[in-house]
Amino acid sequence: MTDAFDAATLRFYRGNADAYAERKPPLDGPLTRFLAELPRGAAILELGCGAGYQAEAMLAAGFDVHPTDGSAEMAATASRRLGRPVATLLFHQLDAVEAYDGVWAYACLLHVPRDELAGVLARIRRALKPGGLFYASFKSGEDEGRDRLARYYNYPSEPWLRQCYAEAGPWASIAVDTSSGKGFDQEQAHFLHVTARKPE
Ligand code: SAM
Repeated sequence: MTDAFDAATLRFYRGNADAYAERKPPLDGPLTRFLAELPRGAAILELGCGAGYQAEAMLAAGFDVHPTDGSAEMAATASRRLGRPVATLLFHQLDAVEAYDGVWAYACLLHVPRDELAGVLARIRRALKPGGLFYASFKSGEDEGRDRLARYYNYPSEPWLRQCYAEAGPWASIAVDTSSGKGFDQEQAHFLHVTARKPE
């Protein structure tokens, strides 16, 4: 696969924005730990924000959040929730340079085609200020595939994912946590939670 994004996956989120918005992502755990590492009022870019629940929590906590999503319909749903514009941005279109203290990408980069992931991670690294913090979560596995809703997943193993991050450029630290739970497709999945810091 060589496309910068998966068209069938985007079609799913464009066509099912309202149904997906009924699923609330966790507002504690990884999000709480991420925010605790950032300075007060820090500028945060959110990628793949979905219906905007986590952006809402970050805004309520006083952060300067820039929510984005690659599906115009999901972005509109988030915009209605937040009462502010939400940009439609595909991951590979990110061209910011040293603009953010943090990048938050909860359960969204898992849809990036395998051979595009290192390039997207490099763009995120470039968008971070020196010392900036980047969180992303993935469904783990051994090879790419699709779920029963036709959504593409890169299903990385931890070693494969660490190699991808290394290809994107140097990081001061990379920490990987694991968890398990059910996705929107109701299938049990194992998750990798990656927190990486850009060097000062
Ligand atoms: N982060 C949100 C949450 O946890 O509720 C949404 C997670 S949902 C599993 C994945 C999101 O990534 C969808 O909103 C989808 O539109 C977005 N997405 C998928 N591919 C994308 C791409 N190439 N660029 C930007 N966003 C994308």
